[in-house]
Amino acid sequence: MSQPSSPALRCPLCGGTEFQREESRQDSRWGMTSHRMTLMVCRQCRYVLHFYDRHSIFDID
Ligand SMILES: [Zn+2]
Repeated sequence: MSQPSSPALRCPLCGGTEFQREESRQDSRWGMTSHRMTLMVCRQCRYVLHFYDRHSIFDID
């Protein structure tokens, strides 16, 4: 099996590395800002990781 070009994300709960990626965008009701959010849903335990657009998904702490 070949490795994907992007580094693997690991689930903090089950250690799984397969995620379902979903993107959501929330526009504020004031129309000033919009937050784009990436959700990574673990395929094993369904744990949801939230990532905001302004951070790298690997820069979360
Ligand atoms: Zn998991």
